[in-house]
Amino acid sequence: MEKLQDLRALLIHEVMDVYSAEEQIIEALPMMIESATNPKLKKALEDHLKITKKQKQRLDKVQQLLKVGEDKKGTGKKGGLFGLFGSGQKCKGMSGIISEGNSIMKEDIDPEVLDAAIIASCQKVEHYEICSYGTLKAYAQELGLAQVVKLLDETLEEEYEADILLTDLAVFGGVNQEAETMGTSNRSQRNSAESRSTSSSEGRSVSPTGTSSRSSATPGRSSGSKTSANTKRSTSKTQTTPASKGKSSTKKTVSAKR
Ligand code: FE
Ligand code: FE
Ligand code: ZN
Repeated sequence: MEKLQDLRALLIHEVMDVYSAEEQIIEALPMMIESATNPKLKKALEDHLKITKKQKQRLDKVQQLLKVGEDKKGTGKKGGLFGLFGSGQKCKGMSGIISEGNSIMKEDIDPEVLDAAIIASCQKVEHYEICSYGTLKAYAQELGLAQVVKLLDETLEEEYEADILLTDLAVFGGVNQEAETMGTSNRSQRNSAESRSTSSSEGRSVSPTGTSSRSSATPGRSSGSKTSANTKRSTSKTQTTPASKGKSSTKKTVSAKR
């Protein structure tokens, strides 16, 4: 690999990384679609698979645009970019996220709980992509590559939408709640010999994605920040979250303590 001597070289490097990420997602999604039970979740994943295939094609266009630019620099080199895409560079970040997702699908897990876990896994994927495309877009803007910016932005928007849809399914569409209820009935079965607590689950609602989906937010903190899953949003504007949009989720304090 050549020395990354400037922002353009870094842009190319990172485009290749996200290209590999998209390829891995295309490979991983069918298994998730098959494992999902909730019909809306299945549909959302099927739709995103189609979208992801288009995103990969979009990256092919980005690649071509960047190659054209490279020639303009008069390096005389050809094929510096072609041939590397989809082969040489593997995104280890996406590989790690996907392998975590695959391993939870192999756990002994209730279908309702698995749906929640699949959402969590997909949202990690989306966030990685949002970070990647947000950064790439910022680099392309810095370099004045208008067409590249446009292509990257189209994908970035789609990743945001996918993330928001998953949040809706988890938090408002009942997936987290069904996983919670399933947990409750299992606990009740286990505890049936004990006299206390048929209502022991009340108040427990730590979201499967690790942060409380109904955790408190100080007023103002949630405004203007991007909806993202069960995850907390940063209010700071960085290149990875270039714009504030989307809806803010309603949040309530829930104690995880009994
Ligand atoms: Fe994608
Ligand atoms: Fe990566
Ligand atoms: Zn995606």
